[in-house]
Amino acid sequence: MHAYQHCINPLCGATFDVADVLTSCPDCGNLLDIDYDWDKLPVPKSMRDFEARWSNRRNPLDVSGVWRFRDLLPFARDEDIVTIGEGQTILQRSEAVGRYVGMNTAASTGGLYLQYEGLNPSGSFKDNGMTAASTHAHMVGAKMAACASTGNTSASLAIYASTKQLFKVVVFVGSGKIAYGKLSQALDYNAQTLQVLGDFDDALNRVREVSGECGIYLCNSVNPFRLEGQKTIMYRVLESLNWEVPDWIVVPGGNLGNSSSFGKAFGELMRLGLIDRIPRLAVINAAGANTLYQLVEERNVAWNAGQPDDDIIDTFYADMDRDNRKASTLASAIEINRPVNLKKCLRAIELCDGIVRDVTDQEMLDAKAQVGAGGFGCEPASAASVAGAKKLRAEGIIAPSDRVVCILTGHQLKDPDATVAYHSGDKALFEAKLGTRGVETAAYANSPTVVENNLQKIIEALKA
Ligand SMILES: *Cc1c(COP(=O)(O)O)cnc(C)c1O
Ligand SMILES: [Zn+2]
Repeated sequence: MHAYQHCINPLCGATFDVADVLTSCPDCGNLLDIDYDWDKLPVPKSMRDFEARWSNRRNPLDVSGVWRFRDLLPFARDEDIVTIGEGQTILQRSEAVGRYVGMNTAASTGGLYLQYEGLNPSGSFKDNGMTAASTHAHMVGAKMAACASTGNTSASLAIYASTKQLFKVVVFVGSGKIAYGKLSQALDYNAQTLQVLGDFDDALNRVREVSGECGIYLCNSVNPFRLEGQKTIMYRVLESLNWEVPDWIVVPGGNLGNSSSFGKAFGELMRLGLIDRIPRLAVINAAGANTLYQLVEERNVAWNAGQPDDDIIDTFYADMDRDNRKASTLASAIEINRPVNLKKCLRAIELCDGIVRDVTDQEMLDAKAQVGAGGFGCEPASAASVAGAKKLRAEGIIAPSDRVVCILTGHQLKDPDATVAYHSGDKALFEAKLGTRGVETAAYANSPTVVENNLQKIIEALKA
């Protein structure tokens, strides 16, 4: 195997075998990458070479939108790979959403594209990473795997465990703030589900302790193998664009696994000579959970050759704790105080000339309604990408003729309460299910019309 684990801190640079189970560098505590001796590996000459696999519907590794690209994440033997057909997702150009964002929809090459990662088996992009983490868990013979989750990570881990029966799963969720679509999946896929009386960050701290203590395989995005799988989202975007590099990738930012893996993907493709330029990356926080925005845009924290200013970061978190500030947004998938992949994301931002913005719940839910009206729909957190693109267009940072790809991270059905509350204007539903943070105005609400059970009245309602 020409794959190894590699500390991201260049001053440390420690390396470890891929058979080791680690979620941070034992020497210095930083995050780990999976890296490869590329010159000893068979690397394709062109991304187009992967197209030869499209026709092979009998090999599950070629059907998978992750493992079709296995030469670019070569850490496992084919026979160890755990796949359930993830990554069969699509990119579509949307005129309607493009107009909403403010793109010049007549431009022949530009426009707004939506990458529907909700089409994965468990309904979110998390499956791209979980197939890789499950593969590693299988490689090391794990009997039990665990994660803390705002919902989608647990749904994803649970579906791999139920489908493959290779290991048991325990998921830790915070109390209260989990969308029912997601919780229902963990329960239905028969994962042991612990509702920790605390928020996501509490649940993550506990699962890290418990995993260390009990030798349970940890599947949060501190797991470097997950991020290897998530790189393939970018390969599929390029594939859908006939291997042309777009101008912008816009992605919601929670624990920052996606944004980190996208940067790694583009860095490797450049190094291997498989692309000739790198798109700009926009990471979009919720305004109620905007740690990355605060650090990068307000306090100028940067990767800085692997030595970001820890004092600024530590002070930011200390102030957060002192003031008892807690992340608060109805986009529960990105309601995160301390994003675990912060440093990797800083690296991605530097590589991709990246930028960070935050958007309000109002902006997200309005954008979500527009995605629903002009496409397949998405969950609230996913719409941060579209709301963020709109903001960057309004600021003139995204040009009207640019080619912009927004990642829609989760399926529309994940969080029906938020959708129904928005469209029906039901403040009580917002309060009961989502805390007290409804939206002021639902500008794109498509409210149901109540009508008497009477033919004439129904015909009148149709005309209205
Ligand atoms: C996990 C998740 C996110 C956040 O992704 P990160 O990689 O943690 O930044 C965004 N949207 C949805 C739907 C998610 O499930
Ligand atoms: Zn280290």
